[in-house]
Amino acid sequence: MKYSIQEIAKIIRATHRTLNDGVIERLLIDSRMLSFPETTLFFALKTRTNDGHRYLFELYRLGVRSFVVNHEPAEARMMPDANFLVVTDVLAAMQSLAAYHRKRFQIPVIGITGSNGKTIVKELLYQLLHADFNIVRSPRSYNSQIGAPLSVWQMDERHTLGIFEAGISQPDEMEKLQRIILPTIGIITNIGEAHQENFASATQKCLEKLSLFTDSDVVIYNADDDFIASSLDKAYLSHKAVGWSRRDSEAPLYIKSIQKKESTTELRCEMLDREHVYEIPFTDDASIEDVIHCIALMLYLKPTSLENKQIFSELEPVAMRLEVKEGINGCQLINDTYNSDINSLDIALDFQLSRRAGKPLKTTIVISDILQSGMLPKTLYRKVAELLRRKRVERIIGIGRDLKEYAAAFEIPEKEFYLTTDEFIHSPSIRSFDHELVLLKGSRVFHFERITELLEKKVHETVLEVNLDAVVHNFNYFRSRLRRETKMVCMVKAFGYGAGAYEVARTLQEHRCDYLAVAVADEGEALRKEGITIPIMVMDPEFSSFNTLFEYRLEPEVYSFRLLEALIHEAGRRGITSYPIHIKFDTGMHRLGFQPEDVPAICQRLSSQSELAVRSTFSHLVGSDSAEHDDFTRRQFQLFTDAANQLEHGLGYTVLRHILNSAGIERFGEQQMDMVRLGISLYGISATDRDSRRLQPVSSLRTTILQIQTVPAGDSVGYGRRTYLQRPSRIAIIPIGYADGMDRHLGNGVGQVLIGGHRCPTVGNICMDLCMIDVTDTDAKEGDSVTIFGPGLPVSEMAERLGTIPYEVLTSISPRVKRIYYKE
Ligand SMILES: *Cc1c(COP(=O)(O)O)cnc(C)c1O
Repeated sequence: MKYSIQEIAKIIRATHRTLNDGVIERLLIDSRMLSFPETTLFFALKTRTNDGHRYLFELYRLGVRSFVVNHEPAEARMMPDANFLVVTDVLAAMQSLAAYHRKRFQIPVIGITGSNGKTIVKELLYQLLHADFNIVRSPRSYNSQIGAPLSVWQMDERHTLGIFEAGISQPDEMEKLQRIILPTIGIITNIGEAHQENFASATQKCLEKLSLFTDSDVVIYNADDDFIASSLDKAYLSHKAVGWSRRDSEAPLYIKSIQKKESTTELRCEMLDREHVYEIPFTDDASIEDVIHCIALMLYLKPTSLENKQIFSELEPVAMRLEVKEGINGCQLINDTYNSDINSLDIALDFQLSRRAGKPLKTTIVISDILQSGMLPKTLYRKVAELLRRKRVERIIGIGRDLKEYAAAFEIPEKEFYLTTDEFIHSPSIRSFDHELVLLKGSRVFHFERITELLEKKVHETVLEVNLDAVVHNFNYFRSRLRRETKMVCMVKAFGYGAGAYEVARTLQEHRCDYLAVAVADEGEALRKEGITIPIMVMDPEFSSFNTLFEYRLEPEVYSFRLLEALIHEAGRRGITSYPIHIKFDTGMHRLGFQPEDVPAICQRLSSQSELAVRSTFSHLVGSDSAEHDDFTRRQFQLFTDAANQLEHGLGYTVLRHILNSAGIERFGEQQMDMVRLGISLYGISATDRDSRRLQPVSSLRTTILQIQTVPAGDSVGYGRRTYLQRPSRIAIIPIGYADGMDRHLGNGVGQVLIGGHRCPTVGNICMDLCMIDVTDTDAKEGDSVTIFGPGLPVSEMAERLGTIPYEVLTSISPRVKRIYYKE
């Protein structure tokens, strides 16, 4: 849905200066998330750590023209066609705009609040109702003063039901969320102790939450929760409350029985004078309660949706806070760093208990101090201790000052306490885990992810590790070799030479790269959709891709008159003028490109239109990496320079020129012109010795040894019996094959891998998903890490063994190989 700037200025009561008549479709609060600058309205929010006003000019340069601000920025002069809507409170302005937007819709809107389970109830409802309604809902858990307006802004004419969460941590916040969400139906999940410290009492907090439902027609709640029930009375909401109960057979939804089985639970419900039985795939109390909230809601909103029993049995768990991972030494890790309060601890312990069912695992908890509980530490930790005892926890590792102080409260067979996460990580205890079901429950500031990392099993899989610091290093190295004003185009075609276009592009964008280049429009579209905003060139545009080109502001290379005509026509049809294009000349490659003698005709055609504007002109070198072709390369420079001069002269305006690729930059710096195109060297592979010492390899292909077999002399290894062993051998099997990009020609000793610093040859044919390595001369063990290429074994060596070039090796790594990105 679109709003004009004038409308918005009126809605948020902004004062503003000369306006361009922009149309707004998107709200933005984080400059890094920009994707459609033209239709974006940026709110310059101030938070404790940052101030949106800092990013105004940067966003302007990226094409944003509309801003809501506290004051006009100093650089306003440099942004002559920008709209500045000035308000005293930027957040309040965003909230009023969302509230205004909300009022335009008459559809049922469900507002969910409570201390725990908001997101889960929302997601379960979505699963249960999406066949009956076109639902708009909060993304993830966008439920705050900032999140709720952004959620509501997504509503449009297509939707028939809204589901939004509202979370508060302070008095008076709910009133604002109520105005924004305006729920017609309310659900209160439960009331726990999180964020208690800002409220005078639990009752005050509950009443505050219930104020979300001031204008709702109905409120769904657990009628067995006496505290909520009495709060509803106090808030004068009882008359519209629809309770469900396990005790009261007169309740609108009476839960007759809850029967837990191995991995499912049977719910027997009575409603509308009929009995319904549902089987749900959860056994923990919290999930069961969440599903009952959903049933009560459906009973009110659309009773017929309850007839479909199957959707209940097919519910999927909402993964958002409790992750289970394989740990070292037969352990399992449950990671819950979502919300540190005693209520969510209860939920997590329940989950731990249900995971343990029937397994010979010890239950262990690693827990940090619980912050912001609003309780006296003494009371709090007595409660925690009681909870752990009831849930049969057998070992506790407590981290934090308070836990250490109240250590005596815990009556648990094994207990240890540490002041800090660091102290624990450096204690011998970190290596003591053995067949335990470990629940990690830490407040964010304790950084439990550092513990998880150490306890996690390193999975058996083949991965391409991509070092983003090395990308930055290589980029800066080349930048330092160029003149300050020379621009750089970085090539991210072919999935970023195999490393992953998006991650590389995002890193380059952060480091102020001028241009990206891809081969085809679809690659550019994918980058734009992920939020890449810097200019993108498309080297081989197809005639079928024009829609994508214009839609995503991708700048085509133009290499023929046929393409030129088609682009002019299409731009004209869309009413576009001065769309940037890049004219390519063929100076010897004999691939795509205009011939230098085409220049007069190009100029003539371009002068008689206004749809396209030439942003740059370029050509591509054929043999810049080898001295034997240097004469030819110099001729290419000459041909291109002549053509570019003529082109500029004929057009009557200057265009950027570029011809150097990676090897060209390394060997012919004097020809850098206005811009260079950096490809393979960005990924750490160089044409010259000098540069290869200064570059850092970006990608490493690694795997692990699955099994080691001892095979007698004379036996063969692998398909087709291509290798017979000359001696008794130890053969390691690794999970990488030709389907992953381990070329089949590397079999039978042609290829080598690196294990524990030793080079080991392949044995037998490479299989589709596996291959075999001779590790007889090493002490390699099962589970050891294997480098296919990476530091110590350059990809160029593997390419040489294959009789090809690193480009082919890198771009042949299958998409099924997981990419892992890291920064040091
Ligand atoms: C791929 C490509 C480059 C980059 O080449 P490298 O050898 O990887 O540096 C430069 N220009 C064009 C036109 C390309 O297609």
